[in-house]
Amino acid sequence: MRTSVRGTSVTAFALGVLLMSAACGPSSQTPQTGSTTSASLTNPVPSSSAGRASPATPTATTSTTSSKPTIRPSTTTPTATIAPSLVGRVVSRIPTSRKVVALTFDAGANGDGVDSILATLARDKVAGSFFLTGDFVDSYPTLARRMSAMGRLGNHTTNHPHLPAMTDAQVRRQIAGARTTILSVTGEDPRPLFRFPFGDSSPHDLEIVRALGYVTIGWTVDSLGWQGTSGGRSVDSIVQRVLHAAAPGEIVLMHVGSHPTDHSTLDANALPRVISGLRAAGYGFVTLDTLVP
Ligand SMILES: [Zn+2]
Repeated sequence: MRTSVRGTSVTAFALGVLLMSAACGPSSQTPQTGSTTSASLTNPVPSSSAGRASPATPTATTSTTSSKPTIRPSTTTPTATIAPSLVGRVVSRIPTSRKVVALTFDAGANGDGVDSILATLARDKVAGSFFLTGDFVDSYPTLARRMSAMGRLGNHTTNHPHLPAMTDAQVRRQIAGARTTILSVTGEDPRPLFRFPFGDSSPHDLEIVRALGYVTIGWTVDSLGWQGTSGGRSVDSIVQRVLHAAAPGEIVLMHVGSHPTDHSTLDANALPRVISGLRAAGYGFVTLDTLVP
């Protein structure tokens, strides 16, 4: 289980990194490989999902078109049919034994790098999963719609707060407000995919998220591109981190947007080599739709 690092992050990074962290990045360098997820990691994806986007069939070739094949109705309760083992906890890896990886991108800062990321995904015929804040969607509606067309959207709250510090009502408003914005602007319902800002959750917040119909998505590896060149990161370090963590069902956390002080877009710059490196190691790509029956 990943622990909150509130109060410790201040000493961890330089000011510029802190600003980036406040904007979107996780608040810890520790990859989410919590023991709470281990029970399901060796299990195959539930058979109920076989008719949709099985890990055996990477969605890349069908998800890079400009039109969305389906829009999930907003009135359903998606988690009702999701494997119980996936709800109420942080899913840090897709439960599969197949060599597939989900590339995920969080968006809560600015729109820098999005053009490059989407161009790479389109060129390489790889679909991504994008966790958007409501504020990002308000600021960059065209980019949000292009992301929707290039993969799968998830909910990343309205304005990226530390949810454990908020009241239940505030948490619900953060999640519901983002969903309304994402749905109205892009036509895509982000539910049931949710990711906590900074990866900062509590058992109580996980229960709220579950009750709202979401699965909480974490990550297997954080590229740390959000720390920027001023944080000691480089394209090489990002590629090496992601490839070193390669495993069936790996969920890769990357970010859109540039670093607030050094203006680097390392994740966008590293993406071509991340994709080619994973492919060379025998991996295909899926979106987090894989988790949704
Ligand atoms: Zn974020």
